[in-house]
Amino acid sequence: EGYCSPSGPIENTLCAYETIESLNKDLYPTLHDLVTSDFFRHYKVDLFRECPFWYENGFCMNRDCGVETADEDHIPEKWRTKALSQVHVRDDQDSQPGCDVHAEDFCYIDSESPSSEGQYIDLMLNPERFTGYAGESAHKVWRAIYEENCFGLTEKVGIEYDADGSLNGGAGSGMTQLESGLGGQTSLMDSRKQQGFGTDMRRGAARAEECLEKRIYYRIISGLHASISIHICNEYLDQTTGEWGPNLQCFITRLASHPDRLSNVYFNAVLLLRAVARAAPYLEAYDIETAKNASDLIGLEKDHKVREEMHRVLDMAKMSGAGWFDEKALFRGDDAVELRDQFKYNFRNVSRILDCTGCDKCRLWGKLQISGIGTALKILFELDDKAFDPKRNPNLLQRSEIVALINTLHRISESLQSVEVFRKLYAKTQDEG
Ligand code: FAD
Repeated sequence: EGYCSPSGPIENTLCAYETIESLNKDLYPTLHDLVTSDFFRHYKVDLFRECPFWYENGFCMNRDCGVETADEDHIPEKWRTKALSQVHVRDDQDSQPGCDVHAEDFCYIDSESPSSEGQYIDLMLNPERFTGYAGESAHKVWRAIYEENCFGLTEKVGIEYDADGSLNGGAGSGMTQLESGLGGQTSLMDSRKQQGFGTDMRRGAARAEECLEKRIYYRIISGLHASISIHICNEYLDQTTGEWGPNLQCFITRLASHPDRLSNVYFNAVLLLRAVARAAPYLEAYDIETAKNASDLIGLEKDHKVREEMHRVLDMAKMSGAGWFDEKALFRGDDAVELRDQFKYNFRNVSRILDCTGCDKCRLWGKLQISGIGTALKILFELDDKAFDPKRNPNLLQRSEIVALINTLHRISESLQSVEVFRKLYAKTQDEG
């Protein structure tokens, strides 16, 4: 009820913002439960890979940058065994040190096979939040991701801004709703006046010459960056009182004064929902069981709950994502193959740049989310509908790709939920003022 079903990519979709918010009211709590399960909270990742691009000594000394590893007793042997068999059936593997990449992959995946480097991390013990990691080291990583991988967008391509500072063609009236959600605060600040990196990595006022694919690439990265910033602002450490909580000023400065950043978070929500919807037949059948045996009644009950929650998430994704994002509109022109290869190459590079992040916890969540988005892109652009038949293709996705996909959707969904929190906080300050 209340869902609209426009066609075409979200760029042209004016009603999507309200609809996603309405959907998120049910989606977020379900995902929030799902990611606490043993299946989804355990993720194997190598956090010790060297930065391949520059010498990185910017270690974050803050204890909130540290990562707690998982208790290996909670890791079923079958995850490793399955990963091993998946590696064997593939013959198109690219030889990159310490990780897997196949022709259709958009990023390097830390395999769960026993031979791969890396450790299991319990994500629940390491929430994504303020860590204090900032300054030149963090900026260098972000700059590298935008400047070296965004098809040279930073300097070469100009974007036309709407009068309110939002990207032309990006937000439309949907942003009016976001702005009014903060009582018009956003329009008081002009993102073009930002110092430091200039204007959200894009300069100039000339009409963009870029193609849809390139714009989408930028929106994905900017949306991920914005989502990370929302988590930082929502779980911020007040260093004078030692208390954690939402920091409204942080949200206004980093997000609300840049409506296009917020719109990019919605964009990622739609992209991920569409991918989850498309892969639903495969995801539904995936073996998420962690019960030790038939007499492990508690384990069986937990597994049953996970299956139900997964089913609900898939249903919501099918109901929503299908109409909002039309992957068939992308990679269609004369240079389609070249563009898709460039897209893939850039994305793989982002996963390597993340090894340069000088804060373990930030690196963990950065890598997980790039892997989640990479999995979504693979689902949308590399595989045909028949591929998702679990009988035909049991080894289509690795467990770690599924864990990354669902956790990334949860991160984005939580960001949207936090936007609501900040709207209320802002309204309160207006009432009090
Ligand atoms: P930054 O967020 O560093 O942004 C730099 C510049 O990029 C801005 O000045 C602006 O011009 C531009 N920009 C900012 N946002 C966007 C956007 N959405 N779209 C387009 N352009 C934009 N810190 C934590 O506390 N916790 C974490 O979990 C965490 N995870 C991180 C993960 C990664 C991969 C990286 C690289 C950094 C992470 N950080 C984390 C650090 C955090 O992202 C910021 O770099 C830090 O808080 C400093 O923020 P800043 O205000 O200087 O701007």
